[in-house]
Amino acid sequence: MSNVEMRPLLYNAIYYCSFLDCNIKYPQMSRVKENYPEDFLENVKKTLLTSVPLRGYSNFKIGGTADYFFEAAFNQELVDAIICVREASVPYYIIGGGYNLLFDDNGFRGLIIKNGVKGIRKKEGIPEVEAFAGASLGDLLRFCEEHGLGGLEFAAGIPGTVGGAVFGNAGAFEQSIGDFLKEALLLDAKGRQVQVGRDYFEFKYRHSFLKEKHDVLLSAVFELREEEGKTIKALIDGNLEKREKKHPPHDLPCAGSYFKNPVLSSGERVPAAYFLEKIGAKKLKVGGAAVYSGHSNFIINQENASAQDVVQLAQELKRRVKEMFDVELEEEVIFLPAGPSTP
Ligand SMILES: Cc1cc2nc3c(=O)[nH]c(=O)nc-3n(C[C@H](O)[C@H](O)[C@H](O)COP(=O)(O)OP(=O)(O)OC[C@H]3O[C@@H](n4cnc5c(N)ncnc54)[C@H](O)[C@@H]3O)c2cc1C
Repeated sequence: MSNVEMRPLLYNAIYYCSFLDCNIKYPQMSRVKENYPEDFLENVKKTLLTSVPLRGYSNFKIGGTADYFFEAAFNQELVDAIICVREASVPYYIIGGGYNLLFDDNGFRGLIIKNGVKGIRKKEGIPEVEAFAGASLGDLLRFCEEHGLGGLEFAAGIPGTVGGAVFGNAGAFEQSIGDFLKEALLLDAKGRQVQVGRDYFEFKYRHSFLKEKHDVLLSAVFELREEEGKTIKALIDGNLEKREKKHPPHDLPCAGSYFKNPVLSSGERVPAAYFLEKIGAKKLKVGGAAVYSGHSNFIINQENASAQDVVQLAQELKRRVKEMFDVELEEEVIFLPAGPSTP
């Protein structure tokens, strides 16, 4: 990571991300401020990093370099950074833990903002907990166990931050984070901090309204129940044990289940792995990307895979499932394209 030469970025076309859920809009015919890093320093009081390899920020361990990178440690820093980048018309993308993301081999032509704003507190006298969006789910669960707050045990072992979990309505064992969210603080598209209730999110299976908006989650309040710490611990341990049987080991680079579980015309939601198993997914490989031998809905970076390898393997899996079952699989993992090339 270095503070090397800055190039003015010129975008000459509107470029909508064609990949589901990515939700990026690149500016039209706008010349990005040449003095953007200086602006950033003045407004956010922090230096932007440049040419940062993204592979270290995704659990897939794949990705080229981002033009700019910033990790926010405090809420005000995060807000200032987003307002500043929007004003400068520099494309940007917020990341949490990078556990559900596949970065492009060409990196990202703009600013990646990593949300490192942590902090969790119990509300006085009521079984509610408030967490900044950059807090990890693991820390949130530990906090809940220590403070006798039950409800979120289903999330034990789901890696990533509160922000990423709310964005994708992360879940397991038939429960999702949205079931417990009471209210949240967002930074909206106009740079205002707004308080919203659960209804705003329109939670569905692996979906929240954040996927359709440019709002950024700053913090969230979860409504839980009073529970003995040892009961919470027993539930967490039980869930972790069940996960260990089917999930890849923690050091295997991947981004969780690659595809969402599809809904059939009968209305039934069926595990994607059911179809993938039948098409012989576990034997498939493209370059360094392979399907995990223990679970056919996990694509792993087996050996220096490129993003192209992963995308091609996913396409082949989709093609075979469509051909054999007439079922359209949809990616759960989010691919972030690099964006328009710079002149
Ligand atoms: C081994 C493994 C197991 C997994 N198991 C599960 C599972 O059981 N259930 C499940 O649901 N998922 C699972 N996942 C996927 C992943 O853990 C979740 O999707 C998680 O919620 C991602 O959080 P993150 O902070 O890493 O988000 P990231 O991957 O960093 O980002 C994901 C998306 O969230 C957006 N985002 C992040 N923070 C914010 C914010 N503050 N405001 C607005 N948008 C934001 C990003 O822009 C991006 O579009 C698994 C992944 C792995 C690697």
